[in-house]
Amino acid sequence: MPNDFAPIDMVVVPCLSDNYAFLVHNRDTGETALVDAPEAKPIQAALKAKGWTLTDILITHHHGDHIDGVSELREGARVIGAARDAHRLPPLDVQVADGDVIEICGVDTHVLDVSGHTIGHIAYHMPEPELAFTADSLMALGCGRLFEGTAAQMWESLQKLRSLPEDTIICSGHEYTETNARFALSLDADNNDLISRVEGIEAARAAGRPTVPSALDEEMRTNPFLRADDPAFKAVLGMADSTDVDVFAEIRARKDKF
Ligand code: ZN
Ligand code: FE
Repeated sequence: MPNDFAPIDMVVVPCLSDNYAFLVHNRDTGETALVDAPEAKPIQAALKAKGWTLTDILITHHHGDHIDGVSELREGARVIGAARDAHRLPPLDVQVADGDVIEICGVDTHVLDVSGHTIGHIAYHMPEPELAFTADSLMALGCGRLFEGTAAQMWESLQKLRSLPEDTIICSGHEYTETNARFALSLDADNNDLISRVEGIEAARAAGRPTVPSALDEEMRTNPFLRADDPAFKAVLGMADSTDVDVFAEIRARKDKF
């Protein structure tokens, strides 16, 4: 899935009922990182199938469906998470903050604060293999619910993610895409990019395939939460004169009721 410039493999690991964890592996150094640990078993099975051993565990945020497997998986691995959430995360070996660059699996990994779903939620961006781990911030055709942050915070976080290179592969935390697709179509029924994407999503789900990861350029064309500043989309929503944040907040509120 990642490009050929870095010796990196990435594996999607379905966990619980609708979560995703991700394994990142450097073929040259043998290092293997896990992003989020919803539960240990499927991750251990995936590691065994590949013959990989964990060297790092990256945590995105404190919700149980992203950290409950950490204690069982952490032996021999560094556990990395947000300094500002250290009080409610498993014990951290490395604490990081927005703007930090750490080496994971031999590649530079940039930390972005993407608060909104929670305050302290971070994303990890690996420019070289063009991967971004966004968990419950930017999701396939959606974004996380606002449990702790404001609409303004989430909109700012999504703009940060939107400004990554458009070939970036978005590795998000849940298989919510079919519901997100129905919601997106309810707002944006004439968007041809969206219509053809939804056909692909329905085919993937019918075949039992994940719809995660997704491509950032496709999210930019089809994800309603990334388009709150698009004048044409604002007009479609009947909000041509509203601020970007107000449009984002309205889309989020409509999704919560959908
Ligand atoms: Zn969450
Ligand atoms: Fe989650």
